[in-house]
Amino acid sequence: MSIRIWLSRPHMSGKEQAYVDEAFASNFIAPLGPQLTEFEARFADYLGDGVHCLGLSSGSAALHLALRMQDIGPGDEVWVSSMTFAGGVFPILYERATPVFFDLSPNSWTIDADLLAEALAEAASKGRLPRAIIPTDLYGQSCDLDRLEAAAAEYGVPLIVDSAESAGASWNGRKCGTGGDLSILSFNGNKIITTGGGGMLVSRNKEAIERARMLSTQARDPAPHYEHSTYGYNYRMGNVPAAIGLGQLEVLDDRVTRRREIFKRYTETLGGIDGLSFMPEPDAAYSSRWLTTLTFAPELCGVTREEVRLALAQQGIESRPLWKPMHLQPLFAGSRYVGHGFDEALFWNGLCLPSGSDMTDTEQDEVIARVLDVLRIADHPDRRHDDASQMRF
Ligand SMILES: *Cc1c(COP(=O)(O)O)cnc(C)c1O
Repeated sequence: MSIRIWLSRPHMSGKEQAYVDEAFASNFIAPLGPQLTEFEARFADYLGDGVHCLGLSSGSAALHLALRMQDIGPGDEVWVSSMTFAGGVFPILYERATPVFFDLSPNSWTIDADLLAEALAEAASKGRLPRAIIPTDLYGQSCDLDRLEAAAAEYGVPLIVDSAESAGASWNGRKCGTGGDLSILSFNGNKIITTGGGGMLVSRNKEAIERARMLSTQARDPAPHYEHSTYGYNYRMGNVPAAIGLGQLEVLDDRVTRRREIFKRYTETLGGIDGLSFMPEPDAAYSSRWLTTLTFAPELCGVTREEVRLALAQQGIESRPLWKPMHLQPLFAGSRYVGHGFDEALFWNGLCLPSGSDMTDTEQDEVIARVLDVLRIADHPDRRHDDASQMRF
């Protein structure tokens, strides 16, 4: 069946068109232009904290540049959240460095700061500190910035915060995207705001952003001809995507409000049910609730995550398991993993529900009704048997 209710779709506000029209009217189509300069300036304003922004072709490109900026190379260890999207880890491989994967805390579903602090102390005692730490702000929620920044500073390890999923969220009033030495954001199509594909590198360090700008445009030295003393990339954001971004930035806070509303409606209708647990929000966090995520404990609620997912899919409702932890991926077999398998349990039992800001209440009610259906069937084993025999998965 084709999808009727999506997990998270691009949601244009109408304001984007005027900015795109301006870009077209002035023929600033490519490569750069005033819309890009404006997008970076306004985003830096939005984030606050004296940061500088560099618009790039993707969040992965931003992360790659961040690693390059830290001179990460072959044999270097980079510590990273295991439960994340591959785009938040692959750039480590581009530099032939070695990822070490960390578990999440059950209290926040973001990287376990205790585990990380212990591992840092142990690594320091052996003189084998990592060259960088990349915590992920997962599903719209900031990692514990205060503790991670303090731990990184104590050992002098650069902190690169992957805020790709968390534009619009904050931690103790600090916006996601302003943490660590460098932060990255993504404007991919399924993120809370989109430029149709794009990303951003953010830092308070102006020279770092200037150097990244140079590397992102094929590492041209100042000269009338093409002069290169190092190698670079073609990673810069185009002016037309930036024009879309200008319109999207205007509605970012509204999008966060809407996604939080959607989360609230899910918890109000499903929250009290035995065996269902939603992603917790620590007091210091203001989550964007990019995606509503929850787990189904089959021994308590009688159904598995997969049964729920398939039942939704039968009605044309898109849902998805949580990210498969990187240490479970075939690509990373044999990698070092620091943790207790909390992220593994999240993966086996966790589901992301449709959370798009353009989803109507009626559509969300349909999702909720379908989930309740599956749980009710589980309450009556006879009916469950009949129903299961009719399903064609
Ligand atoms: C989306 C995402 C990225 C990559 O961003 P792209 O713009 O798709 O390259 C990196 N890390 C995380 C956690 C993401 O969700």
